[in-house]
Amino acid sequence: MNFKNGDVSFWYRDIGGLPKKFPSLSSNVEADVCIIGGGYTGLWTAYYLKKIQPKLTVIILEKEFCGFGASGRNGGWLTGGFAWDHFKYLVSSDERSVQLFVRRLLETVPEILNICQENNINADIASTSEVRVATNSAQVDRLKHELQTRKSWGVSEDRVSYIKGPSLEDIIKIPNAQGALVMDGVARVQPAKLVQGLRSLIRKLGVDIYEDTLVTDYESGVVSTSFNQVKSRIILRTTEGFSANFKTYKRDLLPLNSAQVVTNPINKSIWSEIGWSKNELIGDYAHSYFYAQRTREGRIALGGRGIPYRFGSVTDKDGITQKNTIIALEKILYKHFPLVKEVGIDHAWCGTLGVPRDWCASVNFNKDTGLGWAGGYVGVGVSTSNLAGQTLADLCLDRKTENIKLPWINRRVRKWEAEPLRWLGVRSMHKLLEFGDASEEKNNKSSSASNFANYVMGRSH
Ligand SMILES: Cc1cc2nc3c(=O)[nH]c(=O)nc-3n(C[C@H](O)[C@H](O)[C@H](O)COP(=O)(O)OP(=O)(O)OC[C@H]3O[C@@H](n4cnc5c(N)ncnc54)[C@H](O)[C@@H]3O)c2cc1C
Repeated sequence: MNFKNGDVSFWYRDIGGLPKKFPSLSSNVEADVCIIGGGYTGLWTAYYLKKIQPKLTVIILEKEFCGFGASGRNGGWLTGGFAWDHFKYLVSSDERSVQLFVRRLLETVPEILNICQENNINADIASTSEVRVATNSAQVDRLKHELQTRKSWGVSEDRVSYIKGPSLEDIIKIPNAQGALVMDGVARVQPAKLVQGLRSLIRKLGVDIYEDTLVTDYESGVVSTSFNQVKSRIILRTTEGFSANFKTYKRDLLPLNSAQVVTNPINKSIWSEIGWSKNELIGDYAHSYFYAQRTREGRIALGGRGIPYRFGSVTDKDGITQKNTIIALEKILYKHFPLVKEVGIDHAWCGTLGVPRDWCASVNFNKDTGLGWAGGYVGVGVSTSNLAGQTLADLCLDRKTENIKLPWINRRVRKWEAEPLRWLGVRSMHKLLEFGDASEEKNNKSSSASNFANYVMGRSH
């Protein structure tokens, strides 16, 4: 076995390696819209801009290659889920706007699937359900709370439900599973195929993509790269987990680490013991939760938290993952899928996602300066980035659509604490959450340590 660590992600190995890069920016240029960062957010924004106004000159500046970041490394959960605290959006909006937000997010799943189908983007897409299991009473309580929350904010009864016993075992066999939340209308994707498909699509639409082009700074009207400048009326930053590299925005989005392992292909007899025959997205309700997909070839790709945060907002190098993180993920994998231990893992990698201080996603645009950004999806960005792209495009082009009424636009969020407080806070919270999981498993009731950690970090209202 030739175990791999890093190399950006397994998803690139799965498609024969990293893409050949587009040339870097080699002279000063001008554009109507300049997008910094070529992940899903930047690519979707470019897509909608060009679809709405084909004559617009749109350029993307990407420091490595489009899909180098989380968009080429994620778990492939395309859910349309609302991953934040609904109540926090009420501070600057009202219930109807938050319900609209929930609906528009759900609509991203068919939107993405249709665009992929129309444009022959083959991203191993499987329409399926999200199944999140609870393996102790505290997790069941969280599950039921989430079920109620989802329904009360507009997810219909026939789309989300609670199952247990034989109905759950018919889907998947996980030791100690006491019940599961099932959300229909989601999809499994191969992340790198999706992002590379989008990259080709927007190139065909006439977007100029410059790769190997690091943006060093920007201000209203001008973007500076290592060697050249772009003059642009509108400048959008879509760098999510990498945003802290810009001095001015250092404390806006905390780069939180998430890591994954993928098994070797699993044989039919093990699959028939496990079940999982409809490509469901499988996760749980632990504080240090896992998320997993069954891949096209019959592997399990499972992710969870790695070393949560590195001092000074430093990010990983090409997805290389610390040994302790790999061991922790293997433990989670074999705990839930004991039969897979004999199959072993094939590849580990990690990436960063952007977390704002109030743990709620935002889209921002200032008409006067022409500057905007979107991100802070806190780990649910595969679908959210599509709505962010639509919203940014509508704001830039001053369109009077439903999207411009969404409550995530131009919110005021406080910055993260300066170091070393930031590092100490995040690391302590994660220790408390790990402690909380162990305590909940042992005592079968909710842990006050983890409730405290969530409260202090501002994850609950
Ligand atoms: C391991 C992992 C698993 C995840 N799993 C899921 C999942 O299953 N479902 C889900 O919904 N979400 C998931 N997420 C989150 C999701 O992948 C992200 O929210 C989403 O991909 C963010 O897209 P983006 O385009 O905003 O950012 P990114 O994809 O990170 O793109 C940002 C881009 O900006 C470029 N860049 C950065 N700085 C500069 C600069 N100075 N100059 C030029 N370019 C720059 C980077 O190279 C990068 O390509 C996961 C994230 C990780 C890390």
